[in-house]
Amino acid sequence: MATAQRDIVSGPIELKGRTLPELENLFLEHGERKYRAKQVYDAMYIQRVAGCEDMVLLPQPLREKLNSEFRTQSVQLKTLQHSQDGTKKFLFDLWDGRSVESVLIPSEMVEQDGQPRRLTLCVSTQVGCNLGCVFCATASLKLTRNLSSGEIVDQFLEAQKHSSKPITNIVFMGMGEPMNNYENVMLATEIFTDQRTKMVAPRRVTLSTAGVIPGIIRMADEGRIIKLALSLHATTQERRAELMPIAKKYKLPELIESLEYYYRKTRKSVTYEYILFDGFNDSIEDVRRLGKLARRMPTKVNVIPFHDIDFTQPQGFAKELRPSSREKFEWFIRELRNDDVNVFIRSSSGEDIDAACGQLAFSTESSAA
Ligand code: SF4
Repeated sequence: MATAQRDIVSGPIELKGRTLPELENLFLEHGERKYRAKQVYDAMYIQRVAGCEDMVLLPQPLREKLNSEFRTQSVQLKTLQHSQDGTKKFLFDLWDGRSVESVLIPSEMVEQDGQPRRLTLCVSTQVGCNLGCVFCATASLKLTRNLSSGEIVDQFLEAQKHSSKPITNIVFMGMGEPMNNYENVMLATEIFTDQRTKMVAPRRVTLSTAGVIPGIIRMADEGRIIKLALSLHATTQERRAELMPIAKKYKLPELIESLEYYYRKTRKSVTYEYILFDGFNDSIEDVRRLGKLARRMPTKVNVIPFHDIDFTQPQGFAKELRPSSREKFEWFIRELRNDDVNVFIRSSSGEDIDAACGQLAFSTESSAA
C-alpha cells in the first residue's frame, strides 16, 4: 500500500497527524533522537495523554521544547451538544479561528450490557465545502481550507474523551469532500489503522465521496483497505446533476465504471448512499434503476431519510426538496428488497441537534477567521 504524501496546511508545526516515520524525521531535523519520536507517538495515540507535560518518559527540557516549538493540540472543543438519542455533536475550534464539526453516533443495536454495539465518529475533512450539493447544509459554507491530518486525527482523540465506550468506526462523511483532501485523509487513516495505535480496524473506516472519479481510481490503484461509499442519491445522470453539481463533471456512467474498476482491483464491495426525496427519486422506476445499478457488483444500499436544512435558508430547487413520507420510505425499502438489493436504513440520529446526515453547518460567522 502506498504511503500518502503530506499536503501542507500552513500554521504552526503540528505534532499530531504524522505517521511514525514522519515523526522520526521531524525529530532528527530538530536535533532530537529518533527513539524519542516513538515515545511521543505512543504517548499521543496509545496512552493518549492530555499534553506534553504528561509524557513522563521524556526529559523535562524536551517536554518544554515540544511545547514551545510545536502545536501539540490540533483542535479545541468549543461546544458539545447532546441529542436525546445519544448522538453527540462537537464543534471544534482550529488554530486559525475557523471551526469544524464532528458527530459521535451510537448504534441502535445494543449488547447485553445495554452498551451500543458500534460507536461511529463522523469526521470532517475540510472547512466548508465547494461541491454545492443542494440538499447539504455544509454547502452553505464556502470552502476555506483543507484540514491537516493532525486536525482530522485530533477530532477522534478529543471525541473519545467524551465517551466511556471506545469509538469503533470512523466515517469520512462530515464537512467537506474527503477526496479533495486526499493526502491528509489518507495520512490520518494510516494513523487510525496503524497496527501500533490500534485506534480502529481498517474495515471499520469508510470514506464517502460525492463522486470524485480520480480519487476512486487512486484509492483502487493504491490498494487502500478502507471501505468506500458513494453518495448516489439519483439513478439518472440528469436527476443526479440537479442534486449534485459535481455530477456534471463526473458523469454517472463513468462514475459507475470507476467503482467497478475499484471493485476489480480491491475485491471490496461499495456502499451506495441514497437520500429519499418526495416525488424526486422515490418512484418504482427509481427502484428498478437502483436495483440494476446495485446488482452490477457486490454492493450495499443505505437509504437515508432527508432532513430539512431550512436553517440555512436554501434557495431555488433546494427549497422545494421534501422528505418522502414514512409510508413511501418503507415501501421503497420493501421494493428494493424484493428486487434482491442488499438494503439498510440509515436512521435519523441527532436530528434534534442538527447533527443528522447533511446537516452539518454552524453559523457562517463562527467559521470566519
Ligand atoms: S454532501 Fe458532502 S460533498 Fe456535497 S456539499 Fe455536502 S459536504 Fe460537500
